[in-house]
Amino acid sequence: MSPVLACRGLGKTYVEGGLNTPVFDAIDFEVARGETVAIVGASGAGKSTLLHLLGGLDAVSAGEVFVQGEKMSALSDADRGRLRNRALGFVYQFHHLLPEFTALENVMMPLLIGGAGVADARPRAAELLGRVGLAQRTHHKPGELSGGERQRCAVARALVTRPACVLGDEPTGNLDEKTAAQVYALMLELNREIGTSFVLVTHDRRLARTMDRALELANGKLRVLAPEQV
Ligand code: ADP
Repeated sequence: MSPVLACRGLGKTYVEGGLNTPVFDAIDFEVARGETVAIVGASGAGKSTLLHLLGGLDAVSAGEVFVQGEKMSALSDADRGRLRNRALGFVYQFHHLLPEFTALENVMMPLLIGGAGVADARPRAAELLGRVGLAQRTHHKPGELSGGERQRCAVARALVTRPACVLGDEPTGNLDEKTAAQVYALMLELNREIGTSFVLVTHDRRLARTMDRALELANGKLRVLAPEQV
């Protein structure tokens, strides 16, 4: 079976006002079905950049990204968008929930964008909100939720489509330690239950140790850390 997510010779150089900032130039990486991968590294090493390229949120400078075996660059914009919506979920440090919509509507959004009807999307979103412990908060707007609740809502939104892979960029970076641990535990539980793969950028070595694999991005190279190095 093809990996849920892979890249070959992936490179990124930011070009701004004639100034080139090379970040990395030849990253090879694969995520198997159901696998959990931590990406660690110093600030500025390029972790967010790598995650953005893998998620198709920024243009690559070199190489290829494959989602469920499909070469992203070979697809039309519309097909790429559809594959991304179907196969990937995203969770960020700042949850990016839409403030004028309720928790339920926010979680329904990826399903509606994917073409599901409201009658189908609503119970699926409600079920996921129940799974993340927000059954009593479905009609609250993000501004009426605590930080931990907002982040759990963002996790529900990322998982509602049952994506093959969730990409997270410091998904609990703004939470206190206890709430962060709860959100992580929840993600790992859903990983076991739904079989979703996770690629999480984190500075939290304790979390990285709980993942199947930890990789370090440094000096433009991605290297596998042995368990005792994590
Ligand atoms: P990390 O997530 O590991 O902290 P980033 O991927 O955010 O690292 O950044 C990697 C490098 O790329 C940094 O040197 C940063 O300054 C640079 N960079 C990030 N985004 C941009 C951008 N939009 N334009 C120019 N340089 C950028």
